[in-house]
Amino acid sequence: MSHKTDIQIAREASKRPIQEIGAKLGIGAEDMLPYGHDKAKISQEFITSVQGRQNGKLILVTAINPTPAGEGKTTTTVGLGDGLNRIGKKACICIREASLGPNFGMKGGAAGGGYAQVVPMEEMNLHFTGDFHAITSAHNLLSAMIDNHIYWGNTLDIDLRRVVWRRVLDMNDRALRNVVTSLGGVANGFPRETGFDITVASEVMAILCLAKDLADLEKRLGDMIVAYTRDKAPVYARDIKADGAMTVLLKDAMQPNLVQTLENNPAFVHGGPFANIAHGCNSVIATTTALKLADYVVTEAGFGADLGAEKFLNIKCRKAGLSPDAVVIVATVRAMKMNGGVAKGDLGAENIAAVKAGCPNLGQHIANIQGFGVPVLVAINHFAGDSEAEVQAVKEYVAEQGAEAVLCKHWADGGAGIEEMAQKVADLADSGVSRFKTLYPDEMPLFEKIESIAKNIYHADGVEADGKIRAQLKEWEEQGYGHLPICIAKTQYSFTTDPTQRGAPRGFTLPVREVRLSAGAGFVVAICGEIMTMPGLPRVPASESIRLNDEGLIEGLF
Ligand code: ADP
Ligand code: MG
Repeated sequence: MSHKTDIQIAREASKRPIQEIGAKLGIGAEDMLPYGHDKAKISQEFITSVQGRQNGKLILVTAINPTPAGEGKTTTTVGLGDGLNRIGKKACICIREASLGPNFGMKGGAAGGGYAQVVPMEEMNLHFTGDFHAITSAHNLLSAMIDNHIYWGNTLDIDLRRVVWRRVLDMNDRALRNVVTSLGGVANGFPRETGFDITVASEVMAILCLAKDLADLEKRLGDMIVAYTRDKAPVYARDIKADGAMTVLLKDAMQPNLVQTLENNPAFVHGGPFANIAHGCNSVIATTTALKLADYVVTEAGFGADLGAEKFLNIKCRKAGLSPDAVVIVATVRAMKMNGGVAKGDLGAENIAAVKAGCPNLGQHIANIQGFGVPVLVAINHFAGDSEAEVQAVKEYVAEQGAEAVLCKHWADGGAGIEEMAQKVADLADSGVSRFKTLYPDEMPLFEKIESIAKNIYHADGVEADGKIRAQLKEWEEQGYGHLPICIAKTQYSFTTDPTQRGAPRGFTLPVREVRLSAGAGFVVAICGEIMTMPGLPRVPASESIRLNDEGLIEGLF
């Protein structure tokens, strides 16, 4: 069987006009703001009008620790949405938008894969409806206003050395990580050192994804700390008077985008915060709106369950009052083998012992999620070379953990390949067994919150942090930020901070190198290990092979 690429499959999709897709969710044509024929934003009036309705069931798709063998969370999220619709349920998908930077760097889109994709995938992976451009503009407007304030006399007494607000660009460009601005003489202001982050790392992105509505968005934008004075007092975006104009720039970006799957089922694609220094899932407004319109909402959290699901549950669900009814953990036979010590080049050969050796990674994620009071199913995302005995080994292991694993073939067969799982997910979500609780209460001191995640989720012995970090956390508690949840930034490849430690390691500690306050988004970031907020391009970037062919179609985008 010759495989078609994701873009070939996407191109052959028989898309329906977006008005038909909206109608499946009861959204009238007048409540959709179409961007072409196959994308639409949903009007705020409509969103406001459905607030009194009951919520559907919320299903989170997460995964084991990623390996280079690939897991397929988005593919499974999309496939499960199609599977649920196929068995007659009214289901809607919620996923993130794509960042341009990685698209031109490493291959790999954000629309799913195989026969489980959302379309138009090219546009979703490129400019889409312009949301990220709006976020970039809003962020940089604030940057410009800060320097302008300093230029015209600096009445706020901003310490030039302590401007923490940087600039952003939706591009992988390592040359801009550290720059000096205002060179060239008196007319250009006061030279100072600063830098660029990628747009998805902007606090504006995190805020857009956590805000309930435009009023909440404006308040949170105003709450962002942009600099400190010479007395080390915080200066807020509100002091710069940028919050109003930023909200104007973000007005349309705040509205969720509706598109469709290859099987013409509805999918909201909205927002895309980084999963390290931010929480890594689609917008609250998309999820809460979808819950009012569909009986089942399937959504995805970035990275493995130790990072993505933990933040989804402890940050997004806490802030938005959401409560998941079931969690699906995606695992693959190949990734189990890699966790069991097999090198990437040897994944093709059947190796049941390695599968079994890698399973404890999955087991720890299952137990962690069950610890949140939410029932778990494991989706074995089927790859062509998986043997029956290997699949069986995973199923048996999962059964021993008190959960169930189901083989899913949505990548090859679309919704038809995941019907059994869809039925089980619907039954589990309907059963009402979920008793969701966050891992820690708001009142717990900040350092103890970090310890709680380290011990209960990573299974570390404890947290290492020097006196300066502990003092900083205490100071924020005194300033009224003690109730905030924690956003851990660490490697996605391991429960530890060492990406090479696979499986379920024991006997390690979590070193916290730095803490940052995202006062507008409403979390404290604990940085554990190297953390990149402006990626670079690889030696041979994907952009070298992206082009328009003679028919005007895009080639090389996955
Ligand atoms: P994640 O969301 O976990 O990062 P994606 O769903 O985006 O992963 O998938 C990553 C890549 O792996 C995509 O290119 C997709 O086509 C591919 N992929 C996913 N599942 C399978 C599968 N079962 N067989 C082959 N390729 C797959
Ligand atoms: Mg994904």
